[in-house]
Amino acid sequence: MNYNNNIKYFQVAQGVWGMRLVFVNVYIIANRRGFPKGWVLVDAGIQGSADKIIAFAESIFGAGTRPSAIVLTHAHSDHTGALEELLKHWDVPVYAHELEIPYLTGKSSYPPSDPTVGRGLMSLMSPFFRTKPLNINEKVKVIDVNSGITELPEWKVIHTPGHAPGHISLFLPLNTTLIAGDAFATTKAESAVYLLNNIKKLSGPPAYMTTDWSAAKASVQKLADLQPRIAAAGHGPVIRGRELQAELRKLADNFDKKAVPGSGRYIGHSTQADETGTYYVPPFRSSTKFKVVVGLIGAIAGFAVTQSLVK
Ligand SMILES: [Zn+2]
Ligand SMILES: [Zn+2]
Repeated sequence: MNYNNNIKYFQVAQGVWGMRLVFVNVYIIANRRGFPKGWVLVDAGIQGSADKIIAFAESIFGAGTRPSAIVLTHAHSDHTGALEELLKHWDVPVYAHELEIPYLTGKSSYPPSDPTVGRGLMSLMSPFFRTKPLNINEKVKVIDVNSGITELPEWKVIHTPGHAPGHISLFLPLNTTLIAGDAFATTKAESAVYLLNNIKKLSGPPAYMTTDWSAAKASVQKLADLQPRIAAAGHGPVIRGRELQAELRKLADNFDKKAVPGSGRYIGHSTQADETGTYYVPPFRSSTKFKVVVGLIGAIAGFAVTQSLVK
């Protein structure tokens, strides 16, 4: 852990740093060679964290620094909360996969979260997370998955849908560093206890916002096949070495048991989305309706508790 002017951040690998904002991570990747040099911000944290993200960057690169681009693993509100604020400060392009663009250009909302899955306070609170799109049309650039991102020439872009349709992960073959986004988590993202205390536990993607579980499974298998030695996810601490490879393999091989909830709105019924946004959301079935009512009651209590914790 580095402390620089009271800014607390951690090193992931050479030229890669992370910062935890209450329960979600953002990452900075420095370009070590190629044109243009400089650095890229991966994801944009929760609302209200712009000043912390700027201070994080300035503590590494000096006052007045700015990224050459912001890259989004996906556009969920906990990964884009400070984006509009940051863009007022840094006039830079924002890269996202084609299938995430509708949620950044005012065209489509994400499907509603499923508070009944995952048995945790975060799940219960998930109906309060923003699903409405941002509107940053003029800043958005579509990622070409095959050629990658100009500003990150050494990194491969891997389309890892399931948690979100245009979810991407970033992989540096040189030292097999993986920035996984929410393709999987390294903590139990449904549990406020795990999440707020950053307890290490390699897990499936945050369940309450995952709306296509078969795609999510294929994505984890794709990432496990890369055999990364360092993994930094959107939620949870960095996992490395043999521990990572063994746990990730186990997760990929036993995904249905380890990651997929027993029941829920999107279990066996996926949402469907294309480059215009989400066009099919499975209806609530009667069995889940009751749980949702219970969930909402819990959510209100949970929201009140967490608001008092955060303040
Ligand atoms: Zn997410
Ligand atoms: Zn997330």
